Amino acid sequence: MKSKYSKAKLAKFKKNILQKIEEIDGTMKNIRSSVSDNSSLFLDGSSEDHDEGTEAHEVEKNFLLISRESDYLTNLEKALQRIDDGSYGICEVYIEDAEKCECPESPLIPEERLLEVPNATKGVFCKEKKKLNLL
Ligand SMILES: [Zn+2]
Repeated sequence: MKSKYSKAKLAKFKKNILQKIEEIDGTMKNIRSSVSDNSSLFLDGSSEDHDEGTEAHEVEKNFLLISRESDYLTNLEKALQRIDDGSYGICEVYIEDAEKCECPESPLIPEERLLEVPNATKGVFCKEKKKLNLL
């Protein structure tokens, strides 16, 4: 049974992750600059018809976005570490306790899923079971 991805495949995943990290970096910079634009509007306070409620809402939304993106970024960095230590792409449940892993055929998370969700740590089956507290 195949229980590890080849070096070539890992290199491909790594490239994909680095690309995502770059995208997120760009998005965060954009959000940050729009946040600071907004706060200068706040300090200014000159425009009378300025809808402060909407602005506050925008700022809050942006901060939420930033925290969500930075969580994702942390997870992608963890994924990079797993590539380096060779455990990337192997279902986490399998690593913890091979008997409990319900991934069909192999504990390897399918390549397509890893390319789409590079921070995935479990196979879909195990992920769903964990969500339902069955693991
Ligand atoms: Zn599994």
